[in-house]
Amino acid sequence: MLELQKAGTDSRRVVHIGTLTIGASRPVLIAGPCSVEPGYVAQASVLAETGVDGLRAGVFKPRTHPDSFQGMGLEALPLLAEARRLTGLPLISEVMSPTEAEAIGDHVDGFQVGARNMQNYRLLEALGDLGRPVILKRGLSATIDEWVASSEYLRKRGNDNVVLCERGIRTFETRTRNTLDVSAVVVARELTDLPVIVDPSHAAGRREWVPALARAALAVGADGLLVEAHPTPAEAWSDGAQTIDLAALADLAELVLDSRLPGLRVV
Ligand code: PEP
Ligand code: MN
Repeated sequence: MLELQKAGTDSRRVVHIGTLTIGASRPVLIAGPCSVEPGYVAQASVLAETGVDGLRAGVFKPRTHPDSFQGMGLEALPLLAEARRLTGLPLISEVMSPTEAEAIGDHVDGFQVGARNMQNYRLLEALGDLGRPVILKRGLSATIDEWVASSEYLRKRGNDNVVLCERGIRTFETRTRNTLDVSAVVVARELTDLPVIVDPSHAAGRREWVPALARAALAVGADGLLVEAHPTPAEAWSDGAQTIDLAALADLAELVLDSRLPGLRVV
């Protein structure tokens, strides 16, 4: 086992992603479609009305098969700019290389490092140098220690604006897309001072199961939720099956507002 920083609950780090404050008084809700699509601006506007705290959407998509939609790439940038302007909400998008980070840096408030790149150390070092906030997802088969060790690559370069995100791991179970490891939230919050959020969408793989997993995440003390949502999930360009609709998103927005202060949560 690695010797990792043990911070305890008194000295938890608060991370700001634009207007978003993660790790403070209540859990946050970041939501949006898996990918930026041509209709993104209108989608972001209606999603914002549900009361979400931040927006997500992938410009560059890490797809398992090369023939699957790879994201709009740089054509998405004007849409991101307009969505941010209209909603006033901070926006997070995934990057897979330092070049992609440079390309979209001015159009996002925070970067996501996806599960497939959790151990892409040159990427982590580059994002460490850029200093922008990073949501670091847990790798598909990464241990909690490996995940936390990856966060140290960012911090060693002076970037402490890091949020860990549990998104389910690969196990023998195939009914769910991944197995949500709720214990990871508890353990990671003990091993580090970083906020830990949960992505129930990539864990569940089916939209019907997302609300229950989101509740489980909040019950074990998650500092927020990262959820795939779309006004018409069946039409989403990627990950539609796990994407919730506006009504389900509004319920989650209410749930995070109702959640008690971290120190008062039953964990
Ligand atoms: C995503 O957020 O759309 C994504 C690809 O996530 P993950 O890296 O968790 O698979
Ligand atoms: Mn997705």
